[in-house]
Amino acid sequence: MQHDEQYMRLAIELAKAGIGQTSPNPVVGAVVVKDGEIIGLGAHLKAGEPHAEVHAIRMAGEKAKNATVYVTLEPCSHFGKTPPCADLLVDTGVKRVVIATTDPNPLVAGKGIKKLQNAGIDVEVGVLKEEADELNRIFFHYIATKTPFVTLKYASSLDGKIATTTGESKWITSEAARQDAHRYRAMHDAILVGVNTVIADNPSLTVRLPEGGKNPIRVILDTHLRTPLEANVVNDGAAETWIVVGNQVKEESIMPYRRRNVQVIKMNEANIDIRKLLKVLGEKRVTSLFVEGGASVHGSFLQAKAVNEMVAYIAPKIIGGKEAPGPIGGSGFASMADVMKLKIKSVETIGPDIKIVAIPNQK
Ligand code: NDP
Ligand code: ZN
Repeated sequence: MQHDEQYMRLAIELAKAGIGQTSPNPVVGAVVVKDGEIIGLGAHLKAGEPHAEVHAIRMAGEKAKNATVYVTLEPCSHFGKTPPCADLLVDTGVKRVVIATTDPNPLVAGKGIKKLQNAGIDVEVGVLKEEADELNRIFFHYIATKTPFVTLKYASSLDGKIATTTGESKWITSEAARQDAHRYRAMHDAILVGVNTVIADNPSLTVRLPEGGKNPIRVILDTHLRTPLEANVVNDGAAETWIVVGNQVKEESIMPYRRRNVQVIKMNEANIDIRKLLKVLGEKRVTSLFVEGGASVHGSFLQAKAVNEMVAYIAPKIIGGKEAPGPIGGSGFASMADVMKLKIKSVETIGPDIKIVAIPNQK
């Protein structure tokens, strides 16, 4: 109908308010309209708190009867931490519900829509579906695979180097680009680096933004438990730290880390297999993972075809030097027929730097 897209666009804007703070739930926005007037707005802001529809219907009050509700995701139909929104819409007596996309959660999938239709509500599905799917790509991936959505990020010079021949890398990109990367940190449940990065840089892996933001869980890949006990990630208590090790690591060497409240996760094998790791993280309810280096870890994730999105910040600088490292280590892909192909999602400039977001072809 006329104006459907316009109201759905508003619902999508509302949904964006929840980005980075609703995990493990999706972000959702809702708008209630009657006789061409917006009478209710809502967004889901945090797991356990009211869903978008509840906020919007509450705001609309009495007027919600016979209104049209625009919602970015199929209303839920099961009792979770809150009662089902589909029931609420039926009880309120709304006339029409416009939905952007269906919920892949098997507990909901199609059942919310059925419930509405059975109650005689006019339901339309698919308005701005692409935008709505993009908005919840992390949530949808996690529901479908039970493993985290993986974003791999690096910063390089224009000639594709991540450090000088002497190993210096602070800073390649501008303050503005680094802030953008911190926004990604805040958006993800966990951030991951290899132990060599911890040893070389002693990073704190926290979110430092003028507007604040929650710190992700810090995950270190460290087969033989070489992470220094003095490392910031072990001592600063700024966020949870999980060190992933092989099964040969002895309990007594783990104790000092545990005393510092660090969780040591032992894999079932001697090496850390990326696919198995993602399963373990998924079981621990990590829905999204931000992989920030170094080159060896990047190589492993790409070889395992475990990357959903790549973010590259490229500075207009030349580092040069045959020995200066590039962003992706490991053994690489030997022939042009085998190289990883990607689809560019966006290209923009941030301050003096270029930011490219690309989607690897995982087949
Ligand atoms: P990494 O930080 O990638 O750590 C690699 C180590 O992690 C391995 O040697 C291995 O050590 C351990 N590991 C455990 N499991 C795996 C696995 N499945 N795959 C890969 N590694 C695994 O090391 P790099 O030496 O490649 O990179 C470190 C350098 O990169 C630093 O100098 C840092 O400054 C730089 N850097 C630059 C960035 C940039 O964007 N410019 C970003 C991040 C780092 P073990 O066998 O002991 O477990
Ligand atoms: Zn709901």
